[in-house]
Amino acid sequence: MLSSETTDYHRICVCVRKRPLNQQEALLKDLDIITIPTRNVVMVHESKQKVDLTRYLEHHTFRFDHAFDDTASNEFVYRFTAQPLVENIFHKGMATCFAYGQTGSGKTHTMGGDISGRNQDCSKGIYALVAEDVFLMLKKPTYEKLDLKVYGTFFEIYGGKVYDLLNWKKKLKVLEDAKQQIQVLGLQEQEVCCVEDVLNLIELGSSYRTSGQTSVNAHSSRSHAVFQIILKRKGKLHGKFSLIDLAGNERGADTCRTSRQRQLEGAEINKSLLALKECIRALGQNKSHTPFRASKLTQVLRDSFIGQNSSTCMIATISPGLSSCENTLNTLRYANRVKEL
Ligand code: ADP
Ligand code: MG
Repeated sequence: MLSSETTDYHRICVCVRKRPLNQQEALLKDLDIITIPTRNVVMVHESKQKVDLTRYLEHHTFRFDHAFDDTASNEFVYRFTAQPLVENIFHKGMATCFAYGQTGSGKTHTMGGDISGRNQDCSKGIYALVAEDVFLMLKKPTYEKLDLKVYGTFFEIYGGKVYDLLNWKKKLKVLEDAKQQIQVLGLQEQEVCCVEDVLNLIELGSSYRTSGQTSVNAHSSRSHAVFQIILKRKGKLHGKFSLIDLAGNERGADTCRTSRQRQLEGAEINKSLLALKECIRALGQNKSHTPFRASKLTQVLRDSFIGQNSSTCMIATISPGLSSCENTLNTLRYANRVKEL
């Protein structure tokens, strides 16, 4: 993207990524009901049972900026989603990339990747891929002379509260001043000098995110994780890339049997995902009022959205199985509403 192409309205890109059927689904003979017939179309072939127990298929078609099938690598997805936004932050811009979808659909795989076995079977996620490009760009003469410094932050929003993932999950206060500027008090901004430094931050923050969890579906699937790469020039904010691994969007199917704590969490997640959708829609339509204050998530991300030169990309992740059909359709409808093409 060239700087001459930059405009002062908000650019939004909405994509869908299908993950492969996993071993367990294959074992249970779950059916793959998703097809991606072209580069930007997703079809869901919903199997319905008639009264006489014969089956028929109902086909749902959705169109997006890009649709990635289960053979797409993280690098490939990155190239069409977050990568075009990296240059923004060198031009005093803001960039935001979200992964949205049900638990188990591939949000963390897409964003965080798998960096635990870094030297062997390493699959970098979008956090690391953005970091690599940021450090490559910094070496370009035009940007090198700006003398930019790079910082990373990593925090989690859970139940409407903010926790620092680079500082022992410390609970942080969020303040809003008279100009509606939001400050997360005491958030660790760690200076990073190379990609390796960033990978260390991701590893550290990710370990805090999942620490003390009894199951994969615990806490981390009910919190939003925000990883940010910040550029500063002479101590002042120059640009910021926010990368967000959202809480699972599935609704508690058995609400009446779940604990009060779970119900509150669910309500908070619904509220924030709804607020996020409304904010992105408002930005895309250039509306004067954007309801940032409706949730902690949108409040904290406000400054990333309203920059003069800002772009947002959403990657809706979907599971392929028939058993996930309802959640998949919900995800696709939400993504569709974010940006009506
Ligand atoms: P979420 O964060 O949405 O809950 P995860 O990213 O943890 O889901 O993915 C669930 C499982 O599926 C993980 O074991 C992950 O490695 C695997 N997975 C997700 N997406 C893909 C993909 N595109 N290709 C291969 N495996 C994937
Ligand atoms: Mg996850």
